[in-house]
Amino acid sequence: MSEALARAAALLRDARHATAFTGAGVSVESGIPPFRGPGGLWSRVDPAFIEIGHFLDQPEESWRRIKDIFYDHFGQAKPNAAHFGLAALEAAGRLRAVITQNIDDLHQQAGSRDVIEFHGNSRWLLCLECGRREAVRPERLATLPPRCRCGGLLKPDFVFFGEGIPEKALQRSYQEASQADLFLVIGSSGEVQPACQIPLLARNRGARIIEINPHPSNFTPAADVFLQGKATQAVSELVKELGLRN
Ligand code: NAD
Repeated sequence: MSEALARAAALLRDARHATAFTGAGVSVESGIPPFRGPGGLWSRVDPAFIEIGHFLDQPEESWRRIKDIFYDHFGQAKPNAAHFGLAALEAAGRLRAVITQNIDDLHQQAGSRDVIEFHGNSRWLLCLECGRREAVRPERLATLPPRCRCGGLLKPDFVFFGEGIPEKALQRSYQEASQADLFLVIGSSGEVQPACQIPLLARNRGARIIEINPHPSNFTPAADVFLQGKATQAVSELVKELGLRN
């Protein structure tokens, strides 16, 4: 066992209140590419289609892209060992909550119960007219753009460029940052505001940071332990080290 893994396991074992903070990297091994960096989505697709002004101006065109990328492609992804490992840590009382920047629903599908969705969730549609939410079903996307029964335009219930963070998720994230004594930061570049402030706020209040990422990120200088590697392997090893099963 590496020295870093032993230190991370000890921090997690001794933590009074541990919170995970995840980014796109935790879902890479489920087949969903990150947005940034080599192989990232933005290296081949212009992100304008999920900019709120563009979406409202040209909902049909935006929706064609959204359906192709987020539903026809990523919608097929399944949780991986990192998602299951975090659910196992929560079930064993070792983790309080997962704050995720991801919109793919994979933490929930893996069995995590307290998931704070910082950027919303693509599994839900929101009516921009009456505010009603409904679960996505393939037949709802047969005609684009999809419309609510009130006639209003439906939008995926995740945060588009130009939109604010859902108030409840923001409040709960600040609460975790003020209460946690350990943050487990997995697969995030730390470049997206204001999400990237959350682990750093926790750190400023005295929380320890364990980071899992194959590459150094903006969080690495603040990390007490940097487990340099892929999420599935590192989380599985941590879970095993604590005597738990994925
Ligand atoms: P990012 O795209 O900016 O960075 C991804 C990070 O994951 C990088 O630091 C990279 O080194 C790391 N990484 C790559 N492979 C990994 C692996 N196997 N294990 C662990 N880490 C790995 O991601 P971000 O910081 O989350 O910001 C992107 C934003 O885009 C987020 O706000 C999120 O909402 C959104 N996004 C979501 C999804 C999703 O829902 N799955 C996918 C892409 C982007």
